[in-house]
Amino acid sequence: MEIRNCKRCNRLFQYNGIKYCPACLTELDEMYKKVRDYLYEHPDAVIVEVSEATGVEEKIILEFLREGRLELKEPSLVLTCERCGKPITTGRMCKECLAVLERSLKKGFNESARRVSDLKPDSRRIHVADYIIKKKERE
Ligand SMILES: [Zn+2]
Ligand SMILES: [Zn+2]
Repeated sequence: MEIRNCKRCNRLFQYNGIKYCPACLTELDEMYKKVRDYLYEHPDAVIVEVSEATGVEEKIILEFLREGRLELKEPSLVLTCERCGKPITTGRMCKECLAVLERSLKKGFNESARRVSDLKPDSRRIHVADYIIKKKERE
């Protein structure tokens, strides 16, 4: 069992693979529903408008988009691919980079799989990115 600080309110809680405490999760869920409903009715709204209309902070809306729970109709300048910086509609990377990442992971699976799985999620992402850059340089 692991105890961690909630990423949002900093209270201690029993970590279960999610970075927020149960109270924040409930709140975030309410916010998510508001944002989702608003985007459903206003598919062309940009994040600032959504934030103003729903009262949900922009960074929280961005988080939903990063998690892939929400998707924008048009690629947004505030939501960019973590690898090439191109505006995207949802998630962390554009489709091209995701495809490259998938290929690299498959290619180097045997040598890197064990090491990667030992790392924490955040450092794993950095590791994977480094790995791809190194691999690219070699090619
Ligand atoms: Zn919390
Ligand atoms: Zn990209």
